[in-house]
Amino acid sequence: MTEWLYPERCPVCFKIVLPKGAMLHPGCRQKLEFLKEPVCRKCGRSVETEEAEYCPDCAEGTDRGWKEGRSIFPYHGVMERALWQVKREGTKEFVRFFGIQMYQKQKDFIHRRKTECIVPVPLHPSKQRSRGFNQAELLAAVLGQEAGLPVRRLLKKTKKTRDQKSLGRMERRKNLRNAFAVDLEELGENIPKSVLLVDDVSTTGSTLTACAFALRKQGVKQVVFLTVCAGELSG
Ligand SMILES: [Zn+2]
Ligand SMILES: [Zn+2]
Repeated sequence: MTEWLYPERCPVCFKIVLPKGAMLHPGCRQKLEFLKEPVCRKCGRSVETEEAEYCPDCAEGTDRGWKEGRSIFPYHGVMERALWQVKREGTKEFVRFFGIQMYQKQKDFIHRRKTECIVPVPLHPSKQRSRGFNQAELLAAVLGQEAGLPVRRLLKKTKKTRDQKSLGRMERRKNLRNAFAVDLEELGENIPKSVLLVDDVSTTGSTLTACAFALRKQGVKQVVFLTVCAGELSG
């Protein structure tokens, strides 16, 4: 298990938080903004009205690899800043906070889906080397411990891809084509039926789609996902 820095900093104001284990200041807890209900029943992003069961993307009904997904925070404001801090500054203690939130808010979702193991979305080896860690792996470790589920690094990123942010939807798909593969050595004979993919952010869900298809290609029957933040609905 990862050794967490102590004392830890608060993911909202970045200042030291005491006592040990508190994770954030009581006043800062008030500033947390969770993903607004209601959410799309499939991808978990906020939808406008209670009547809209699905967001426009999911209503199309195309196979996106994963069956369902959920996220905890919107991808803006304080939590976007905290995630950025993890990735750019290596403030890994925030990951513990994120992982615990993921479990507490989505316990039912995780267990209802008969999840057998947690699979982190991988980074390309060169990116992992330069960053020194993969935030999705750290999240998976915390979540696995909370949920009592094993973490399996079943995926590898086999292609360097451009930053998805600057790309349109079709370009994203093209960018991610054959970007992920199952690590067959890790998989071995033990092919799980139901897998929970974990990542820090989902925007259009296309990274998760590419990962889910790679897993299904190797015989995984069901893939669901959980991310810390979800991007807003966009075109
Ligand atoms: Zn604070
Ligand atoms: Zn949706």
